[in-house]
Amino acid sequence: MTESREPLATAIALLREARRVVVFSGAGLSKASGIPTYRDADGLWMNQNALQYSHADDLQRDPAGFSRFWSQRLSAVESARPNPGHLALAQLQRLRPATRLITQNVDGLLTAAGCLDVLELHGSLRRWRCDHCGNRRGPWLLNRCKRCGARARPDVVMFGEMLNAGVLLDARTAAQECDVFVVVGSTAVVYPAADLPLEALSAGGRLVTLNTEPLHLDTSASAVLRGASEDLLPRLLAGLAPPGATS
Ligand SMILES: [Zn+2]
Repeated sequence: MTESREPLATAIALLREARRVVVFSGAGLSKASGIPTYRDADGLWMNQNALQYSHADDLQRDPAGFSRFWSQRLSAVESARPNPGHLALAQLQRLRPATRLITQNVDGLLTAAGCLDVLELHGSLRRWRCDHCGNRRGPWLLNRCKRCGARARPDVVMFGEMLNAGVLLDARTAAQECDVFVVVGSTAVVYPAADLPLEALSAGGRLVTLNTEPLHLDTSASAVLRGASEDLLPRLLAGLAPPGATS
């Protein structure tokens, strides 16, 4: 652990001086909560069912299979609990109210941990909607829309769909305005994840990366933290929070 002490101290110093902080998170943040990452061998997209039901068109092709698959995903997410990494980010937001949280995760665990105004780039499994009539209000009994009776779908961005333009604009604005941009548990290689840290850098922001594996962004980072987010984020916050404010 001695090799991580120096970058951790650097990251704490950067956050201490920062007014506007952005934390961009990916699947690595939720791994300790039991949510599989996309790239794991047992990951969400690596089994046959996921490939069959990851396009919105699949709802028309096989409505029953689609509903069953996504209901199972929702159950997995609903039984998961926020881990110390999520809780540390909620604490960061309390210490630094200008902190914006951007995530690729659809599990809703940041909000469950008490985080506010989370920018969910890929939507949330915990919200459903009806594409037939536009209804966004449940309950979704047997995954059907109570207004028109059509089958509902999770409010997540599926393959072949565009990201929500408003959420994306908010994320880009936050990146451009921040003093420090922290990448947590994301390889940041897929659009728009790949662009947001670069936008922050070109607007004069400093970059911190926190990941178990090396990232191509590490060469541009002021501090590179190597390890698990559920371990490092609480340590980061412990260094940032004044004594007695760690609850
Ligand atoms: Zn409907």
